[in-house]
Amino acid sequence: MKILVAVKRVVDYNVNVRVKADQTGVETANVKMSMNPFDEIAVEEGVRLKEAGVATELVAVSLGGAPCQETIRTALAVGADRGILVQTDAALEPLAVAKLLKKLVEREQPALVLLGKQAIDDDSNQTGQMLAAMLGWPQGTFASKLTIADGKATVVREIDGGLETVAFPLPAVVSSDLRLNTPRYASLPTIMKAKKKPIDVVKPEDLGVDLAPRLKTLKVVEPAKRKGGVKVGDVAELVDKLRNEAKVIP
Ligand code: AMP
Repeated sequence: MKILVAVKRVVDYNVNVRVKADQTGVETANVKMSMNPFDEIAVEEGVRLKEAGVATELVAVSLGGAPCQETIRTALAVGADRGILVQTDAALEPLAVAKLLKKLVEREQPALVLLGKQAIDDDSNQTGQMLAAMLGWPQGTFASKLTIADGKATVVREIDGGLETVAFPLPAVVSSDLRLNTPRYASLPTIMKAKKKPIDVVKPEDLGVDLAPRLKTLKVVEPAKRKGGVKVGDVAELVDKLRNEAKVIP
């Protein structure tokens, strides 16, 4: 069984993100970039399925500029077998990513596509759902447990009220939530080995996908600064402030 895992290059989660002076987006020049944390979890799950003998091949796919090769190499260093880079400098919205992934799925014929539940840069949480819909495949999103047996996937999903278990036949799309697993670190020997693993580079034009944006960003601004708190002397003062200053109680 072959697995395709989508890995996005995003601003590292430790970076204090700054808005560009012209308010068109956030600063990415000279900023540390890493694999989207939910995608690290998706890769780890794919590697575990290989180690368990459930999967035979794990293919890491990234879409974006040439530096996405590094993101693919990170996946290769923890156990993915090969990579595919869909190289473009165009800004990619989730719909375009899903369309490109669909083309790769048709080429590669995996039994399972693993993605992160959301990319921490745009927080869209759309790509996996769109891909499953366009393929006409079942989906298990926000997975905190994944079991594959007898051509079927069972996914425990993190939902608002608790945990929901769904089962569906393969091929399918599964997106990872935080508690699915704890990703491993790459060791030096595996990093060295990963340098020899192949990465296929394709262009969106080769896949015949229209990348035209459907959304227009009007402006990006910093969140409002939080004002400092005050200490109240007693309950009466608190109630007075809630009623007359914050106006949150009648
Ligand atoms: P999003 O819908 O943008 O929140 O992204 C959900 C998931 O889709 C991510 O965690 C990735 O697994 C995948 N994804 C989105 N954009 C890309 C990209 N440019 N390259 C690779 N994977 C992506």
